[in-house]
Amino acid sequence: MLNVDDIRKDFPILSRKVNGKPLVYFDNAATSQTPQQVIDAIVDYYSNYNANIHRGVHTISQEATDLYEQSRQKIQAHFNAKHAHEIIFTSGTTHGINLIANGFSSILKKGDDIIVSALEHHSNIVPWQMLCERTGATLKVIPMNDAGELVMSEYETLLSEHTKLVFVNHISNALGTINPIEYIIEKAHQVGAAVLIDGAQACPHLKPDVQALDVDFYVASAHKMCGPTGIGMLYGKEAWLNKLPPYQGGGEMIAEVTFEKTTYADLPHKFEAGTPNIAGGIVFGTAIDYMNTIGLDAIATYEGELLEYATAKLLDIEGLKIYGTSKHKTSVLSFNLDGIHPYDVGSILDKLGIAVRTGHHCAQPIMDYYKIPGTIRASFAFYNTKEEIDALVEGVKKAKMMLS
Ligand SMILES: *Cc1c(COP(=O)(O)O)cnc(C)c1O
Repeated sequence: MLNVDDIRKDFPILSRKVNGKPLVYFDNAATSQTPQQVIDAIVDYYSNYNANIHRGVHTISQEATDLYEQSRQKIQAHFNAKHAHEIIFTSGTTHGINLIANGFSSILKKGDDIIVSALEHHSNIVPWQMLCERTGATLKVIPMNDAGELVMSEYETLLSEHTKLVFVNHISNALGTINPIEYIIEKAHQVGAAVLIDGAQACPHLKPDVQALDVDFYVASAHKMCGPTGIGMLYGKEAWLNKLPPYQGGGEMIAEVTFEKTTYADLPHKFEAGTPNIAGGIVFGTAIDYMNTIGLDAIATYEGELLEYATAKLLDIEGLKIYGTSKHKTSVLSFNLDGIHPYDVGSILDKLGIAVRTGHHCAQPIMDYYKIPGTIRASFAFYNTKEEIDALVEGVKKAKMMLS
């Protein structure tokens, strides 16, 4: 059991006011809030260790390098990767996806298929479309059903010996659906395809075990799991990372350079060109420590209670419809009020200090499926409370009264 009153004291932003009202932060699927422990670690880095890494003979450069590499090991342990060098620091999920899409440019050819899901963030569809344009490969899409779940029987019919890569998010940011990635990975491997999982929305709620999943690539962003923006991770199986070409050229990623030929550095440096986000890399580990101290199991249980409570209360409001009704979902509630534009509801909630997201949530294909312009999305984290959900429900009722 987690103690939410104590936990809230770790997050300074939760005591601020917005428009004269106490902040109710329900936009956790866009970015999570930052605990004091992580803020302190950023200050500590710049106060005591700021130096470039992997290059200096001097003491603070070595200390910064050690902290950066220790953080990589923490991430390795958290995701249960076999080797620390299978963890590549990226600027975030989007960077990790583009790195893999670029790497497959040299592998794919005309006649090959890439399979993606209908539940994707649309910024994540674009890299695959670009990859198909470059290589002549074909993009195929696993369709969704009314509950916001991927249709596995359709997935099976899309798979063939032409399938080279499958890309699916672990959890949908727009609807909260937890996709059956174990099954998706197993079936893809049966036809010899590699699998990349977008874990941006999953890592705040659960702890993926990349070896147990047998996944080829897994990507995530620190800023959705109590870390800072601009830092993320890519896990890749060693054999795959050795096979893929580097993404960017620059310092750090080379072993030897002459104008005739450059040889690349070993993993993970081959994929880490230039001076990285050193403070971000170090405190990503602090954020993971913080989440593990609370415990991902306790977090999932508590967020499940919040989801159940909020779902029941919101459904009491007449004319309110929830999108994404899978039994397997995390604490994301996407909903609309009959005949009212989501943006108008969002604006009224903002005046009440309640931060939600409105719009298509970068998941236009999902909105097209439901034939709606967007939804109001409230996403809960382990530092939210039932009292805050009560405030949301009251706010939605008020918005309904004012707008209908
Ligand atoms: C947030 C999110 C992304 C994008 O993450 P960035 O940190 O902006 O790169 C991708 N996929 C999903 C499912 C997300 O929730």
